[in-house]
Amino acid sequence: MATQYICAMIIDMKLIAQVRLNTSPEQHTLLLRTLEQANTLCDTMSSFAWEHQVFGAFKLQKLSYKQMRENSKLASQMVIRCYSKVSDAYKKGRHKKCNFRKYGAIAYDDRILRWYTDKQCVSIWSVGGRLNIPYSVGEPQKALLQYQQGESDLVYNRHNNAFYLLATCDIPSADRKEVESAIGADLGLVNILTDSDGEIHSNARVEKNRVRLQKLRTRLQKRATKSAKRHLKRLAGKQRRFQRDVNHCISKRLVLKAQCTKRMIRLEDLTGINTRTKVRGKEERAKRSNWSFKQLRDFIAYKAQLYGVKVEYVDPHYTSQRCFECGHIEKGNRRSQSDFHCLNCGHSAHADSNASLNIAFWAAVNQPIVSRDLGSHPAAGTSPSGN
Ligand SMILES: [Zn+2]
Repeated sequence: MATQYICAMIIDMKLIAQVRLNTSPEQHTLLLRTLEQANTLCDTMSSFAWEHQVFGAFKLQKLSYKQMRENSKLASQMVIRCYSKVSDAYKKGRHKKCNFRKYGAIAYDDRILRWYTDKQCVSIWSVGGRLNIPYSVGEPQKALLQYQQGESDLVYNRHNNAFYLLATCDIPSADRKEVESAIGADLGLVNILTDSDGEIHSNARVEKNRVRLQKLRTRLQKRATKSAKRHLKRLAGKQRRFQRDVNHCISKRLVLKAQCTKRMIRLEDLTGINTRTKVRGKEERAKRSNWSFKQLRDFIAYKAQLYGVKVEYVDPHYTSQRCFECGHIEKGNRRSQSDFHCLNCGHSAHADSNASLNIAFWAAVNQPIVSRDLGSHPAAGTSPSGN
């Protein structure tokens, strides 16, 4: 968890942008052959490393470079990349010889791969020479790519028979401005996100979609035909993708709002949500989707970084029971999931809006892990990113 705090608050953030290469049939074949030959070479290097019990990239290269070059038709820089791959594999364990998948990913550096983000294409080395390949990319990835730096992995996805480049992007935090005021955001089951400006993103659309897909799935499972099976396979992951899209939209909206109004974003420590929301029964659990909370928080954190918006995490205690108007804290203040009615001053509000105001203006900011007082904060030492 420490990483999430540190990434969001202290150091620069490394993010991965993914683009799909629009290869011609000929380019496709050449890239496949490139991966195949590179991984074959990795296997040869691995055997050499295992035999001589030498695992460091530099030492391996010194001992075997000539032999490896003679063994393959790969460019010298590609051979160097293979040494790194083999050496990295042995960092994970040296109890047995490492083998490599035929079409496993290979890292390219800027000597064998060049990005032309203005033209949306790359120039990439292959066993058939340099290839100029256009790529497809979505808006968020496009924004990331302007910070592309260092290595990119060439990945072959055999399920859809397509090539992807995963580019490492270094998002600078230097252009993040220091601000004092904040937007508070309350995440929940019924309303995915409610902010302290009173904007509410309901879960109804996502929930409706989930129920519809579940019904369809049940119907298809009863029919054991071949076409039903095919259909079921297509449905797999559909809800996740839908939810992901929704999370992308909501997080972007929040972050842009904070940026335009020169405010930071305050969120609850996620452990607060885990302890506060009691989940009963299978149906509730299905709605619950822990991963979705985490995903939304991650999206907010990385988009905030991208747009130079600061994120703070606050102590979640009493944010839903406290009256924002008079400060009175009582369980009975919250009459139902959606209604807040203060027993002291009579102030009425939407419960999630009241909570998000407390998050924005009242709740104590949790310090990054290092300086947390383990004694006074029950959430300290556990992972706010959930389990
Ligand atoms: Zn009150």
